[in-house]
Amino acid sequence: MIALLILFGIISSSIGYPSVDKADPSTNDVTTYDFRYVTRAEWQAKTPVQTTPLKTPVPYVVIHHTYIPGACHTREQCSSAMRGMQNYNMIDNNWWDIGYNFAVGGDGAVYEGRGWTDRGAHSLHFNNISIGISFIGDYRFTVPSVEQIAAAKSLIATGVELGFVKPAHKIIGHRQVRRTACPGDALYELIKTWDKYSPFPGSIDDLDNVEELKKY
Ligand SMILES: [Zn+2]
Repeated sequence: MIALLILFGIISSSIGYPSVDKADPSTNDVTTYDFRYVTRAEWQAKTPVQTTPLKTPVPYVVIHHTYIPGACHTREQCSSAMRGMQNYNMIDNNWWDIGYNFAVGGDGAVYEGRGWTDRGAHSLHFNNISIGISFIGDYRFTVPSVEQIAAAKSLIATGVELGFVKPAHKIIGHRQVRRTACPGDALYELIKTWDKYSPFPGSIDDLDNVEELKKY
């Protein structure tokens, strides 16, 4: 019994579920907030050079794909992908940290990037008013797994529950605020079907008309 308790302790501390109450299924299409969560310490992130606070709750969630690295399927692979992206962003881009607020792996786990309270570096001009979530992989031709998508949706619902994302938030693809193919055609077509998807802004040409940006 003691051995089992110790084992359970090891497993639960290494998985690191966020302590969030379950959603009421009658009022929310997300039926559970229990997704696996991998903290920075767990994927062995470097300490950021500097951080800037993000004003929350944010009105937007921007969806990305990493393109490179490609899809990962185990915690080890996804942690390695996170370290690779952080190295690239800090060394090659000379940024303070990995750019995304969160990434979602093909293993169905959410990987902590800059988190809910530090401003990201994922969508130029839009970082002040959004959380950037990236699907690890190349989603030009195929969509992420059902489990990966469910984890991302649960993450967003958790952000609303915790007060970091506005309940009336808008979900957009990176290409709507920047000249980029991100998050890939296949994934972009998918997010267009999500309840909170917003067709506005339609492109970088609309940025002058984004009300939330005028406050910054
Ligand atoms: Zn992107």
